[in-house]
Amino acid sequence: MVNSNSFDMPESEGKILDGGKCECGICGKKKKLGGFINPTPDMEDRIPKIICIDCMMEQVALKNGISRKEALKRRKRMFDAVYAFQK
Ligand SMILES: [Zn+2]
Repeated sequence: MVNSNSFDMPESEGKILDGGKCECGICGKKKKLGGFINPTPDMEDRIPKIICIDCMMEQVALKNGISRKEALKRRKRMFDAVYAFQK
């Protein structure tokens, strides 16, 4: 039998997999889950997408008008802050 978990979103691209991973709705690779994006008017296929962390960074960068490198840097800072808080 197919192991279907609770995440069943018919009108979306990409899949959420076990272990914090996903099948990305943009690049199609199986990577760490980045998040979920809602369609914007300039997207070709107006459906929500489950995307990997890398594509998420791309989206964040695009949205903020910054480079991908800058987005990664910001993410790292954010994570560093979270880790510091948990200690
Ligand atoms: Zn991706």
